[in-house]
Amino acid sequence: MKVAILPGDGIGPEISAATRLVLDAVDDRFGFGFAYTEIGIGFTALEEHGSTLPDSSFEAARAAEALILGPVSHLDYPAREKGGLNPSGELRKRLDLFANIRPAATRPDLPSRTGASFDMVIYRENTEGFYADRCMYTGTGEVHVTADVTIAMRRITRHASTRIAEAAFAGAMQRRKKVTVVHKQNVLKLTDGLFLECCREVAARHPDVEYEELIVDAACAHLVRRPEDFDVICTTNMFGDILSDLASELSGSLGLAASVNAGDGVAMAQAQHGSAPDIAGQGIANPASLIGSTGMLLEWMGANRKRADLVEAGRAMLAALDRTLADPASRTRDLGGTLGTEAFARQVAKAITDAG
Ligand code: NAD
Repeated sequence: MKVAILPGDGIGPEISAATRLVLDAVDDRFGFGFAYTEIGIGFTALEEHGSTLPDSSFEAARAAEALILGPVSHLDYPAREKGGLNPSGELRKRLDLFANIRPAATRPDLPSRTGASFDMVIYRENTEGFYADRCMYTGTGEVHVTADVTIAMRRITRHASTRIAEAAFAGAMQRRKKVTVVHKQNVLKLTDGLFLECCREVAARHPDVEYEELIVDAACAHLVRRPEDFDVICTTNMFGDILSDLASELSGSLGLAASVNAGDGVAMAQAQHGSAPDIAGQGIANPASLIGSTGMLLEWMGANRKRADLVEAGRAMLAALDRTLADPASRTRDLGGTLGTEAFARQVAKAITDAG
């Protein structure tokens, strides 16, 4: 199986190497025979090829069967016309990875930021919304009208709204059968009006699933007040991006937050957090998010290709991560522990081997 790793910027190379170490243990146990390719993106690619996502890197990513994307420092990239493309947005858009699936759950042995125990998954639409690099056929959704006037456009389509709602309801059918749609239709009457219309149509086809709607600002309060009531949240791009950071931090730490970007037959593991330049190069970043995302990726690929061994391997990765995090002596500093990035990954790899 061809696995492409795109390390990215900041802590990206460190947490990617840690994830590779864990994947090696998975491969030793399950015998998949992973063939790795490392694909240059971000500042290293900008220096070498004049772009943070050169065409050669995109083509190599497209050829892979499994994609693992490290975080990128796109806040510091130059303008698009000077080579500063956001690899994360570009890959999601060009590979049509329309569903960003972001679980957030408390763990019994790990302190959370709320007294409650909860287990939710956010389905975030990934290909349009307020994201300037995903709105237009050519150009971007931001316009500089005069030196002092700027405009950002938000694109919401029936096609994208219906397919994220379908993915969310399919996810809920495998869980506790409840979907909460988060919107701002009171202000964004047309765009969130269309989004809600599509979600309601999909809800009507799933009478077994409990359906709820919340306005995004109130949703933040409800998430903090009663996180245990949420099962699946379905929302547009930017709201999902923001709500998922809130949900993961409530569960313990943003450093734990796994996610997968899924399309039809192709998916990409990606940590929820950014490139953390403040701690880059120190070997102290928590790699749990990218390791967990890679576990989700294997599980997703297994379900998609009807390969029970891949599903089992993905679950083994996630279970090893949980077992490692349960022991206060094997946590990284963001969780009050003392382990560095590599030492933590070695513990997860050992837990995989020991369970085999
Ligand atoms: P960030 O998520 O990188 O960091 C926020 C805080 O969380 C920092 O204090 C950081 O040290 C900490 N943190 C994040 N990940 C951690 C980990 N794995 N282990 C321990 N601590 C961790 O957010 P930011 O500082 O706002 O953004 C930094 C850069 O990342 C920016 O250039 C931004 O554009 C980019 N970014 C990229 C992605 C992505 O690639 N998917 C997502 C968000 C932000």
